[in-house]
Amino acid sequence: MDLMLKDKVAIVTGGGRGIGATTARRFAAEGAKVVIADIDDAVAQTVADSIRADGGEAVAVAVDVTDADGAQAMADAAVAAFGTVHVLVNNAGLTRDTRITKMSLADWDIVIDVILKGAFLCSKVVVPLMEAQRWGRVVNISSRAHLGNPGQTNYSSAKAGLIGFTRALALEQGRSGITVNAVAPGIIDTEMVRALPHFDKIVANAEKSLPLQRLGLADDVADAILFLASERASYVTGDVLHVTGGRYG
Ligand code: NDP
Repeated sequence: MDLMLKDKVAIVTGGGRGIGATTARRFAAEGAKVVIADIDDAVAQTVADSIRADGGEAVAVAVDVTDADGAQAMADAAVAAFGTVHVLVNNAGLTRDTRITKMSLADWDIVIDVILKGAFLCSKVVVPLMEAQRWGRVVNISSRAHLGNPGQTNYSSAKAGLIGFTRALALEQGRSGITVNAVAPGIIDTEMVRALPHFDKIVANAEKSLPLQRLGLADDVADAILFLASERASYVTGDVLHVTGGRYG
């Protein structure tokens, strides 16, 4: 299936690592021009370099998505490099897991800010470009955790909030030719998850209890993101695509 992403311009926030880096590479493989926007300039540059080495088009931009001026500078850099933006993937995220009695205000604020305020600020600066060309795709990376996880009151709230944001923006922007959808991954085999002390137990549990009997891969999530960003999903908006191997609870 031709996703018709050739020459589309895609920004991937948190594109320097994990799901974001894989997604950026997959956009480039489809012929899209990619802006890798990450708080860590070095990892963003590494991903952009590897895409260019493979013959693709990519630039790296250092951005903290919680900073309004930084988000505007990211959009400006995309326009300077490639003329416009067609696709925004709000992927930057982090966790600060602990029980609520131990959770500091800083643990709460940073997770809500990066995931929710970040998606707001990045969408706010990119949507006008999409409105002007009457075509755009916003794909927000939520999580199965939007249904709730112990030790993740901050993260579950942010990821559930991101689904509300997705639906509201979809309703608001449909008439501008912009679709807005969310992807809700389950446990995905990234460096972040491999670093967990009980990684072996997570793998064993996935093999035993998930209907699809394995952890997800970054490419599984990228497949869903690319579909929702493509022309092929032109009649899908305000929706949430779960990529969980069959886990919903
Ligand atoms: P990673 O930690 O591997 O990648 C996230 C990237 O976002 C990192 O490069 C990180 O930089 C960057 N980032 C963090 N804060 C900011 C910020 N303020 N501004 C810009 N960039 C920032 O995570 P994953 O690839 O695993 O996750 C990607 C997304 O998918 C996240 O939103 C996550 O919540 C979601 N997700 C992941 C799942 C999983 O199992 N892996 C499951 C469900 C959802 P740095 O590392 O330097 O801080």
